[in-house]
Amino acid sequence: MSRNRPIVILVLACAALCMAGTVRNAAALQQSLGPVSLYVQDHVTEGEAFMVTIRSPYPMPDIECLWEGRTIRTQAVRETGSGAHGFMAQVLLGVGLVSRDDPPHSELFPLTIRVRGYEEVYTFTPTILRIPGDFPVQKLSLPRKYSHLSADDLARTISERADIQAALATFTNERYWECPMRRPVPGEVSGVFGMKRFINGEPRQQHGGVDMRGKYGTSVHACWEGRVILTGEHFFAGRSVFVDHGQGVISMYFHLSDIMIREGQRVMPGEVIGRVGSSGRVTGPHLHFGLSILGAAVDPMPLMQPACGVVLPKNFEGDTP
Ligand SMILES: [Zn+2]
Repeated sequence: MSRNRPIVILVLACAALCMAGTVRNAAALQQSLGPVSLYVQDHVTEGEAFMVTIRSPYPMPDIECLWEGRTIRTQAVRETGSGAHGFMAQVLLGVGLVSRDDPPHSELFPLTIRVRGYEEVYTFTPTILRIPGDFPVQKLSLPRKYSHLSADDLARTISERADIQAALATFTNERYWECPMRRPVPGEVSGVFGMKRFINGEPRQQHGGVDMRGKYGTSVHACWEGRVILTGEHFFAGRSVFVDHGQGVISMYFHLSDIMIREGQRVMPGEVIGRVGSSGRVTGPHLHFGLSILGAAVDPMPLMQPACGVVLPKNFEGDTP
């Protein structure tokens, strides 16, 4: 892939200049091999989802995406609407938050996209630069049982964490997510993703989702079609629901007052899965809404923008076979 090297160097130079904060849809990296073009963000802030878009005038029935030790297989569908060009596939990926034990730092992540044509295989190997995020601090006062766990509560959280990690490790290759994501409750965000939290004065994990306003009993809707893989009453998350949307994408709904679906059940986009409540570790009723992509917690809010917030360049290279 020596032909891509100058692009990667250019991208790194830009990323170094743009480190100041979260810039979504900053210069997308575009590479073309034969008739196939790849678009992906050149740098990603920690805790950010990003889209890999593959386009070609020809069908692409077999596409492999290798990321963080996982392989996602997908195929292109015919583009529709104005600007339709041919065939397109999209893969949703993300980079998680950096552990607060580590100093802020940038890191390069290799991505491999393999597109099998009728006669040739086109292999793209872009490098994605993860840059540090700039997250606000949140100080919360909560009952002491949530900051100083009893032996029983500690044992309970350890066992629940194992269930949750197993749910987040679910991988089904069918894709049910689509752009944009549906808002689970109409209420605005009261607690942003990634907040550095201090509970009763002590540092805790960063906020791995968004808190959305909602009165007690407000309907909570599935953000996409999917299958319910875990429901439970957890110490921190309270009554919670985990939904698998395929290709490693899992949504989470915490602190519910009611769960209205069962494990194993299929849900449609917008289907009511529960009601807003104040179960678990909370200061009052709200929905904690989380999204995990291949085990990485990411901010779901940008995905509620049209086209999941992805802006593709208007001109398309590689049009001529
Ligand atoms: Zn929350």
